[in-house]
Formats: sequence, C-alpha cells, structure tokens
Amino acid sequence: MPELSHRFEQTRFSPFWAETVADKPVLPVLSESIDCDLAIIGAGFTGLWSALKARERHPDARIVVLEARHLADAASGRNGGFCAPSISHGVGNALNRWPDEAEKLVRLGRENLDAMEADIATYGIDAEFERTGKLNVARTAWEADGLGVMQSGYANFGIETAILTPSELASHLESPRYPTGLFEANYAYVNPAKLVHGLAQACLSRGVAIFQDSRVTGLQDMGEILSLATDGGEVLARQVVMATNADVPLLSHLRRAIIPVYDYTIMSEPLTDTQLQEIGWQGRHGIADSGNQFHYSRKTADNRILWGGYDAIYHYGSRRDPDLLHRNETYAGLEATFLDTFPSLKDVRFSHAWGGIIDTSARLTFFTGTAYGGRLTYAMGFTGQGVTASRFAALSMLDHLKDLRTERTELRMTQSQPVAFPPEPLRSLGIRWAQADLAREDRTGHRSLMLCAMDKIGIGFGS
Ligand SMILES: Cc1cc2nc3c(=O)[nH]c(=O)nc-3n(C[C@H](O)[C@H](O)[C@H](O)COP(=O)(O)OP(=O)(O)OC[C@H]3O[C@@H](n4cnc5c(N)ncnc54)[C@H](O)[C@@H]3O)c2cc1C
Repeated sequence: MPELSHRFEQTRFSPFWAETVADKPVLPVLSESIDCDLAIIGAGFTGLWSALKARERHPDARIVVLEARHLADAASGRNGGFCAPSISHGVGNALNRWPDEAEKLVRLGRENLDAMEADIATYGIDAEFERTGKLNVARTAWEADGLGVMQSGYANFGIETAILTPSELASHLESPRYPTGLFEANYAYVNPAKLVHGLAQACLSRGVAIFQDSRVTGLQDMGEILSLATDGGEVLARQVVMATNADVPLLSHLRRAIIPVYDYTIMSEPLTDTQLQEIGWQGRHGIADSGNQFHYSRKTADNRILWGGYDAIYHYGSRRDPDLLHRNETYAGLEATFLDTFPSLKDVRFSHAWGGIIDTSARLTFFTGTAYGGRLTYAMGFTGQGVTASRFAALSMLDHLKDLRTERTELRMTQSQPVAFPPEPLRSLGIRWAQADLAREDRTGHRSLMLCAMDKIGIGFGS
C-alpha cells in the first residue's frame, strides 16, 4: 500500500457519519426460534423502509428484521447522503433504457423524494435533511457540452436548471479545475447514519423487532411458511423481504445480477467561514463533476467537505472482504483531485476516510422480483443511487407481497431483470476493458465502439 501524506496523520479510517449518532440502541442477537408474519433480511435503508411501511399498512403484523452486522455498518451508513429526485439513476439513464416510460420514472422519482421528506418529518427523524440543490460541474469542453445536453433533457420533463455565468459560478464554487457549472435546485442531502438510526428507532417504537449480528445463512420452503436460519435461531415467516444489497444474494439465481464495486471517500476537517469564502462555496449545495468517473462532494453540518468517488474498484471473483474497505491508493488519488479543486485548502487535514460497497447492476438501477410463489420479494442493484430509491423499492416489494398491481409494480424498470454479468475471467476482463474505455472517453471526449455497442444492448458499468 502506498504511504499517505501528512494530511492523513490524524485521520480516522471509519465513516464520519457513525460518530454523529448520539443514541445507538443496543439491539439483541437472535437466540431462539420465533414466528412472524413478515421477516426482513437486512437493516439498511431498504430493509428499514420496508419494515416501517409494512407497519403503516399492517398495524398488527409481527414484523422482524434480521441484520448480519450492526446498524449503518454497510452502504446505508457509508454513503455521501446525496438524495436524488430519481429512482432510475438519473433522467439520462431513464431516457436511454426506457424512453417510453421515462416521463413516469422522472415523475415517480420526484414524488418519491417529496414523500421521503414528508416521512422524515412525520416520524420526527433528525436526519439533517436539506434540499439545497446540486451543482454539476464540467472540466473539459466535452463535459460542458454534456451539461448542455443534460439541461435540454431535463427541460423536456419540465425540470428547470441553470447554466451559471462565471460570476454566479464563483459564488457556488471558485475552482481552477471546473470552468462550467449547471445548477439543479431539486436535490437534497441527509446524514445517512442518522437516517438509518432514525428509521430503526421509528420501527422499534412501533413494535418491529430488530436483531443484529444475526446473519441469515439459509432459506427453506416449509410449505405455508419460509424458514430463515441464523446461527442463534430460526425465524419462521409467512412472508420475506430480502434487502441484502451488495452481499452475496441468498437466492443463487441473483448472484450474477449484481457485482460488488468499492467506492471511497475522504473528508476534510471542519472549514472556517474564511476558507469557505476562498473556495467560493457559499451555499449548502452538493457538487458532482461530469466525467464517467466522477467525484461527488458536499458539506457536513459542521462544514467538513466530503470528497468521494472517481475510482470504482472491482475485485476478481466479486471478492467481498472488510480489508478492501480501505485503499490508500484511492485516498491519495482523491487527495490529489481535492487539492486540484481547492488549491487554497492545501493546509487542510483529512479527519476521516472510508470505503463502502456498491451493488452495481448492468443497467445502473435497482430491480425487484419475487420467489417462493410470491412469498419472498427482493430489491437490489441500486448502483450508487440508493438513498432515495431504496424507499421506492421498499414500497414496490410490499406491493409484490400483496400481489398488487400498482404504478410501481407495473413499471418495466421494476418488472424486468438486468443483464447478468458473465462468469470469471470474462467478468474481470470486460470490466477492465469498459473502465479503460470510460477513462479514455473522459480524457478525449470520444466514446469507443465497445461502449456504444454496450449502450445499444443496455449494458453499463458505473457507480
Ligand atoms: C461509498 C458509497 C457512497 C454512496 N453514495 C451515495 C449517495 O450519495 N447517494 C445515493 O443515493 N446512494 C449512494 N450510495 C449507495 C447507497 O448507499 C445504497 O444504494 C443504499 O444504502 C442501499 O441500501 P440497502 O439497505 O439496500 O443496503 P445496505 O445499506 O448495504 O443494507 C443491506 C444490509 O443487509 C445486511 N445483510 C446482507 N446479507 C444479509 C444476510 N444474509 N442476513 C442478514 N443481513 C444481511 C447487511 O449487513 C446490510 O446492513 C453510496 C454507496 C457507497 C458504498
């Protein structure tokens, strides 16, 4: 591993967000056999929204959540907290893959963000929700052209955005790296660990049981019920929601539908007002650049800068290993682009650095489905945009369990499954090839024949 610079001397290599949660409940480990109406596997956003929404629909149901680790240990506690008004990994992805459905997908994405804000308020969850907009910035001429395309694509759906004049840009971000910016007002942020804990608290106080350190190791069909095995006990459930994200899916036919991709973040110490003025970052909007390999950045409540993204690392054989959650090479790369973007912050130290796993699907959006005659439902494949989509996925899964035909379940996006990733070694070779072509496109503005062919058959690789 390469050595890190002096800016990382005091760094804590763990998610900053976890330190902001004051009251962490002590949750039991499952140590007996129990019955329930609904068992939910996984206590990230998807599992917890499922539990809470199931409780709204069924006040008397016995609902149990089984979590392999601890609350907020996985992606839901490690992300950037960007809340997209989208369930389809953006407007462009909806248009490319489901042009006939794009209008509906865009509307549902916006409604979902509004409804999530309303839920957070209704349940009194302090998740530091703020709808402060997003600045999309471009580094090169072709990225600036891309912002123009994005603006007209958004305009087709009545979404207003503004290409900023140089002086307007300077009051959002003054950086030698990014000469062009497009501002979209409808984008929000949360403190993700606080949202996880707030959702869990809302569930607990409404009689949902949550067990941690209780990994489900096997599923068995017992006729009317499904049996979920854990080391400490068994859960006999009438219905099951599987919300296990980037872990190896318990259903073997889903194992090639997603791959684990590692994404990393560094975070500065809190900045002073003067430092923020120097970089022109006056508001509380987030920032994302426009390359295939993109950076994302936002402020925390105490004005640290989170700077993440760019590298999207896949390991041969879809390796999942806690040791891979840190990568000095990526932290050093992020430090370099941070300093390039904010040269006046050269004396700033990094307080935190961490990584997480993204469940990448070949079409970049989640998908849902059922198994065991409709008694189990699953959602996965969020690919780096699951903070808001997880709520929509949870509602879709509950619709599936009731066999309801709703706008959610009727979507081609939720009905269809993504193209499966090929087995190794083809998988690694293909990903390496696609990544090299994506990087070349970022450098030159030219999309390779292979990427164009992948676009045509609806396969993508990203985070
Ligand atoms: C570094 C990083 C940055 C990101 N930034 C953003 C962002 O800014 N905006 C955005 O929209 N998205 C972002 N994402 C993606 C987002 O975090 C995820 O899409 C979202 O958290 C998925 O929620 P989830 O509940 O499905 O998954 P998770 O939070 O991973 O929860 C799944 C849970 O299931 C548990 N589990 C797995 N298998 C079992 C089992 N067999 N038995 C019991 N429990 C099990 C796991 O322990 C885990 O807690 C980011 C992701 C990462 C890693």
